Amino acid sequence: MDTLTTSRLILARKRRGLSLVKLAQATGISARSLSAYENGHQQPSLDNLRELSKTLGFPVSFFFASELDEIPIEAISFRALSKTPAFRRDAARSAGRIALLLNDWIDERFVLPSPDVPHLPKTDPETAAEMVRARWGLGQAPIANMIHLLEAHGVRVYSLSAECADVDAFSTYRGKDPLVLLDVSKSGERIRFDSAHELGHLVLHSEHREPHGPDAEQEANRFAAAFLMPRGDVLSHSLQGAMTDRIIAWKSRWRVSAMALAHRLHEVDLLTEWGYRSVCVNLSRMGYRSTEPDGISPETSQVLAKVFQAVRADGQSPAEIAKELHLHLPELNRHVFGLIPTAIEGGAAGSAGRRQGRLTLVT
Ligand SMILES: [Zn+2]
Repeated sequence: MDTLTTSRLILARKRRGLSLVKLAQATGISARSLSAYENGHQQPSLDNLRELSKTLGFPVSFFFASELDEIPIEAISFRALSKTPAFRRDAARSAGRIALLLNDWIDERFVLPSPDVPHLPKTDPETAAEMVRARWGLGQAPIANMIHLLEAHGVRVYSLSAECADVDAFSTYRGKDPLVLLDVSKSGERIRFDSAHELGHLVLHSEHREPHGPDAEQEANRFAAAFLMPRGDVLSHSLQGAMTDRIIAWKSRWRVSAMALAHRLHEVDLLTEWGYRSVCVNLSRMGYRSTEPDGISPETSQVLAKVFQAVRADGQSPAEIAKELHLHLPELNRHVFGLIPTAIEGGAAGSAGRRQGRLTLVT
């Protein structure tokens, strides 16, 4: 039998948020043996391998494919870094690494838009947001779809599954390509805000090579608010002293949460401290703190939808892609906004007439 790829066993365990002890409990394999597998000092028996495959939710072939580098922790902008337990961060980071498998697969086959994200370290977030808007030709207009916009400027966007929920989102670089990973179990408005927040990190903080503290989080939030709700546009809509009902009525213009709009109105001095606080109390009472009643539907990736379309037109099914990546289809689907219609899987058209060379995707 081939030799197990230790980096893959470690990745799979971290992806599920398991310590060696927890994995030992779940599989009935001793922690000492598991540790020896991870060190490469011992090879698992076939039975133990099957048990690991089942418990960790990866095909046996996953554990024998090529070595994988981890995404370095310092390459990642995590929200609430200090509050997030290490195993949760590892789970999100490992989920990101699995998304990179697909990202690399796509890169070999498609030409995607080139990265066009300016680096503006030490710039005031409001100014930086205006500069990115100007560079991308957005004027003061509301943004129809944040994910499509990021993708059109060369940012690769993938989804994280619900088990990464307390990480929210993170961004990193793969070579020169910026990547954003989003927790998509939240409201459409919050996913949009997270997308703009991660853009803020890419613009403001990608020069730093260390995890970011609370200041960086605040800067990314200020960037996101200014990017989604440009000062000039917000000031031109007679929202001075707006009460809760007006905020709820107007939030759809910028496709933001009521809380985010209230905060922005306060930031641009259209709401006093007192006005802002009373709106927050009202919104909380009406259920707008953690959810968004009557919210927008979540945005998804345009690039990934086109990739799957093109691949299907070539006679390859998503199940075959998953197989090439040594993943189960549901695992792949968790990183692509659930865009794979799993119910109609199977029945691939065969490999006849596959395209040679890379296909250019226009977003
Ligand atoms: Zn952040």
